[in-house]
Amino acid sequence: MIYRPLGNTGKDVSIIGLGLEHVDRKPYEQVKETMDAALAHGINIMDVFMPGDEVRENIAKAFGTRRREVMLQGHIGATDINQQYDISRDMPTVKKYFEKLLKLFGYIDFGMLFFIDSDEDFKNVFDTEFITYAQQLKRNGDIHHIGFSSHNPVTAKRVIETGTVEMMMFSVNPAFDMLPADRNVFDLLENKVGKEALHGIDPHRAALYALCEQKGIGITTMKSYGSGKLLSPDHTPYARPLTVHQCTHYALSRPAVASVLPGCKTAAEMEQIIAYCTATAAERDYAEVLATVRNDFRGNCVYCSHCQPCPVNIDIAAVHRYFDIAKLDIKNIPPSIKSHYASLQSAECINCGHCEKRCPFGVEIIKNIKEATRLLKD
Ligand code: SF4
Ligand code: SF4
Repeated sequence: MIYRPLGNTGKDVSIIGLGLEHVDRKPYEQVKETMDAALAHGINIMDVFMPGDEVRENIAKAFGTRRREVMLQGHIGATDINQQYDISRDMPTVKKYFEKLLKLFGYIDFGMLFFIDSDEDFKNVFDTEFITYAQQLKRNGDIHHIGFSSHNPVTAKRVIETGTVEMMMFSVNPAFDMLPADRNVFDLLENKVGKEALHGIDPHRAALYALCEQKGIGITTMKSYGSGKLLSPDHTPYARPLTVHQCTHYALSRPAVASVLPGCKTAAEMEQIIAYCTATAAERDYAEVLATVRNDFRGNCVYCSHCQPCPVNIDIAAVHRYFDIAKLDIKNIPPSIKSHYASLQSAECINCGHCEKRCPFGVEIIKNIKEATRLLKD
C-alpha cells in the first residue's frame, strides 16, 4: 500500500480506502470478509455515511479490537427517514444519528458536514447551529477533524473559503470533471445527459483541486468509477470504457487527492481495486480514452503523464500541477508549493519536443515548463 498526507491534517492515508456503503443490508460475514481484505492490505481510511443501525453495528463488530488501525469518515447530517438515506439539518435528528455513531466507534476521525451541494445547503450548515455543533464535537475530541462532502465545485469552493474545514470528500471522475459546473452530476448517472454535455475538464473543478492543494485541504474521493458507468461499454460517455485502474489513477492524479474510497461489497472487489498499487504505467494511462470526447479546453494539462518518458526525467504532470496552483495567485505562491516543486529536482528541459508530440490535449509543455521554472524556482 502507498500512503499520502491528507492535506494539512497531519494524517497519512492509504491511497485506496473503502467506502462501506455497499455492505449495507449485507450479512455480517460479508461485511467482515470485505473489511478483513481491506485491513490485510494496509487500508487505513474508511467511510461510514450510512445511517442504519444494523450496518453500523456490523462494521463495529467486524473491527473488533482493530478500530484504531483505521481512520473513519462519519457524516453529520446523514439520517434515515423511513429506511431511506436522507440529509437532515434538523438538529435533534442530526445529533441523534451522529451520537449513535460515536457510541459505536468511540470517536470519529473526520466528522463530515454531509452533502453541501447548493447555496441552500451552505446556508443551512454555516448560518445555523449545525456548524457550531460540529465545532463543539471537535473541541470535545469526539471528532478529530472537520471535513465535508460535496459534488458541486462552486459550493465546495465557498465551503473551503470559510476556513472552517480541513478536508473534503468530493466526487471525482473524468466524466464529472468534464461536465460544466452548472450541470448536476447526477444527471450523468441517471442518463439524463449524454456525452454531448462533456466539454473537457471544467475550469471550476480544475480550480477547486488547485485551491485545495494551495490551502492544504486534503481530498478523499467518491464515485470515482461514476457508479460503474465509466466501466461499462453500454454506459460510458467515451468511445470505450475506462478500466478500474484508469479511473483510480485519474482521481489520484488530481491535485490534493490523497485517497480514493471505492464502494466494495466483497473481498474479491477489494482485491481488484488494490491491484492498482502494482499496475504498470500503461495500465493506468487514461489519456487516450479521455481524448475521445469534445474538448473546449484544449491546451490545459489533465496530469495524465501520457507524454512521458522525458529523456531528462522531468515529471511533466507534476510540474503542471504545481504550475496550475501557482497561477491561482502568482503574487502569493505558498512556500509549500515551491518546496514541492523543488523536491521534483527537475533537470533542465532540452526542448526535444518528444512530449508535445505525445500529448493528446495540445498542451504547450515546453513553454509551460519555462514559465513554471520562472515562477517556482527561488
Ligand atoms: S521537451 Fe523538455 S520536457 Fe518535453 S520530453 Fe523533451 S526534455 Fe522532456
Ligand atoms: S502535458 Fe499532456 S500528456 Fe502530459 S500530463 Fe499534461 S495532459 Fe497529459
